[in-house]
Amino acid sequence: MHDVLVIGAGPAGVVAALRAADAGAKTALVTRDEFGGMAANDGPVPVRTLAHAARLVRDARQLGRYGIVVGEASLDYEQLLTRVREVVKDVRAHSSFRSQIESSGVTVCEKAGRTRFLDPHTIETGAGVRFQAQKIIICTGGVSRRLTVPGAELVATHSDAWGLTSVPKSIIVIGAGATGAQVASVFNALGAHIQLFQSGPRILPTEDEEVSAAVAEAFRASGIVVREAFGVIESFEKTPGGVRMWFSKDDQRESAEASLVVVAAGWSAGTEGLGLEAAGVVTNQRGFIQVDEFLRTSAPHIFAAGDVTGRLMLVPQAIQDGFIAASNAVLGPSMTELNQVAPIGSFTDPEYAQVGLTEAKARQTHDVATAVIRFDATTRTIIDGRTIGFCKLVVDRKTREILGCHVVGERAVEIVQVTAVAMAGKMRVDDLARVPLSYPTYAGVLGRVAARITRQLNLATDWQNIRIED
Ligand SMILES: Cc1cc2nc3c(=O)[nH]c(=O)nc-3n(C[C@H](O)[C@H](O)[C@H](O)COP(=O)(O)OP(=O)(O)OC[C@H]3O[C@@H](n4cnc5c(N)ncnc54)[C@H](O)[C@@H]3O)c2cc1C
Repeated sequence: MHDVLVIGAGPAGVVAALRAADAGAKTALVTRDEFGGMAANDGPVPVRTLAHAARLVRDARQLGRYGIVVGEASLDYEQLLTRVREVVKDVRAHSSFRSQIESSGVTVCEKAGRTRFLDPHTIETGAGVRFQAQKIIICTGGVSRRLTVPGAELVATHSDAWGLTSVPKSIIVIGAGATGAQVASVFNALGAHIQLFQSGPRILPTEDEEVSAAVAEAFRASGIVVREAFGVIESFEKTPGGVRMWFSKDDQRESAEASLVVVAAGWSAGTEGLGLEAAGVVTNQRGFIQVDEFLRTSAPHIFAAGDVTGRLMLVPQAIQDGFIAASNAVLGPSMTELNQVAPIGSFTDPEYAQVGLTEAKARQTHDVATAVIRFDATTRTIIDGRTIGFCKLVVDRKTREILGCHVVGERAVEIVQVTAVAMAGKMRVDDLARVPLSYPTYAGVLGRVAARITRQLNLATDWQNIRIED
């Protein structure tokens, strides 16, 4: 009998197993597939590698502008996939806490097939191996939500898209959240004709409205057909060239066709076949495992962490969850969420990122000041020929607290990280304006946008008034 058994070796499960072992528990980690979970094998790592290739294609097009003469760039997609596989293997071997797990004394059962509960303390792997444990932590992640309309079996998910052996001539992407936008952007850069369908009124609906608008405009300018509020999907049918999607809006029926249709219309919990009923674990209305503030499920000795709980479905949150769940499982329920500041970003072209509240949300509860600096007016972006985008800061007028930061454009994700550090350190906007950030840099835009708000709030010192605005 183990003290702690962790199911699923994505970021949540690996950190949960490490933390449990560190805290002195005899721990086992059982996972269906490869070590590293979606993060290493099917999500950010392969996506980021493809996005890097897309960026190189784009950079290659800029070479002539800087006087560098080379032949026409062309894509060898098979070679690119070889590179993706190399990167995934390397990350799995050297990152994702592999070496710590190996030296931690955790029993690791990899490629074990689908695990299921036999009773509240016993699980059986797909290969028929049984484990018993006092405490169990479920970290089985999420899965792409499937459509249920006729012909839905003809469509692919993002996982199928990364596995293609050649770039399709055309792709319909359904769903313009983070995953759909990345699929659209990457394959657009690699030469596919993209139609991006979003049922709601704007793409990237959880971003600040100005971010959605700017990314939609940039997507359109790069040749992506963006269809917002397109209506309701009726069905899919096979055609000689690929798949046709039928959809309707206000009684008007329309169709669109492409070589491939990729659906990225949300997530559900990775709990199929897990036998939660045998363990007494209940799910919430959205089908994700219901947890309390200590990440305890309805069965008090069973915890859940990461995407399977359906909250912020990102690697840093999964890591944090894994740590909290394991601490509470071993030491008793006392630890709750560690840090509320959660920067989020996506590697589209242009990139976009956010931390904190959108302007609209902030206005519901605060008296707000905002400022925007456009990327066509900062030195580094002009030097690099990356002038699409902006940085927006949202601040509480009275307290000077930084409430949110929203960036579109080159290195948006990195810029927002800097703001997240400032927010976590409880810096006020005028504190941020006073930091002499390096020149000329992308993050330098933060000093400038902070200085602009500082002046709006009449807090500026003479020095801030003459600040070099970069
Ligand atoms: C295309 C894409 C891009 C993304 N980009 C980013 C990004 O840029 N930044 C970011 O922070 N996040 C990103 N994410 C999200 C990120 O991948 C997830 O939030 C993260 O992987 C969640 O970690 P997890 O440990 O909860 O689950 P997962 O990483 O999904 O791991 C779950 C593990 O459980 C195992 N498992 C499932 N069922 C069973 C079972 N019955 N028995 C045994 N084992 C089982 C699986 O094999 C897997 O190993 C992206 C996701 C996608 C799809």
